[in-house]
Amino acid sequence: MNAGEALSSYDGVTIALSKGRIFDDTAPLLKRAGIVPLADPESSRQLILPTNRPDVRLVIVRASDVPTYVQYGAADIGIAGKDVLMEHGGGGLYQPLDLRIAQCRLMVAVPRGFDYAGAIGRGARLRVATKYAVTTRNHFAEKGVHVDLIKLYGSMELAPLTGLADVIVDLVSSGNTLKANHLEAVEEIARISARLVVNVAAWKLDRARIAPIVEAFEAGLEDSA
Ligand code: AMP
Repeated sequence: MNAGEALSSYDGVTIALSKGRIFDDTAPLLKRAGIVPLADPESSRQLILPTNRPDVRLVIVRASDVPTYVQYGAADIGIAGKDVLMEHGGGGLYQPLDLRIAQCRLMVAVPRGFDYAGAIGRGARLRVATKYAVTTRNHFAEKGVHVDLIKLYGSMELAPLTGLADVIVDLVSSGNTLKANHLEAVEEIARISARLVVNVAAWKLDRARIAPIVEAFEAGLEDSA
């Protein structure tokens, strides 16, 4: 058996999550669920992190890839922001728990002084820069507003400052990033928090293996409430 086979034949529970904010906020929840990673994803180059429990491991992936890993069963469980789940569409995922961490809002923002309501009222065509192309398209389609979408992968705040776009759609937490870039939020698209997601097939067919982990998260949430 080679190393790849050894890893892919792992018969414990695999949890997918991303570094940074999600990992930092999830670590205390994992701990309350009795799961302690044996390496720090910020300093380790390992992408598969063993934990104190031989039957649980973590895989560290890009935030936007978490739903994909869980959907295809490469991970049984994942932790992903609602922003990422809305963009993914949620196919193949069961979403049993709102973890109430990494809370923020997905907002439409414009340069300070830009007459957003007036532009909408006039039926103007807006150029919107965002990394949330699907969610943004749906939002403006529901409002009956015509938009030209410009897909970006980061630093959305720069787009209106350089003339790339009229408005942006981005996550807002404290509002400091918008303020520092002379932007203001004008519309809320969704309230965001991180969710626990489970592969639907694993949930149906392998509940005995998965449910104790989900229940441990749930109990940890109740303890902290
Ligand atoms: P803030 O300045 O606190 O409003 O934070 C805004 C910046 O942080 C933006 O660049 C957002 O994309 C990012 N951000 C805020 N909240 C989150 C979150 N929960 N998850 C990921 N990114 C976030």
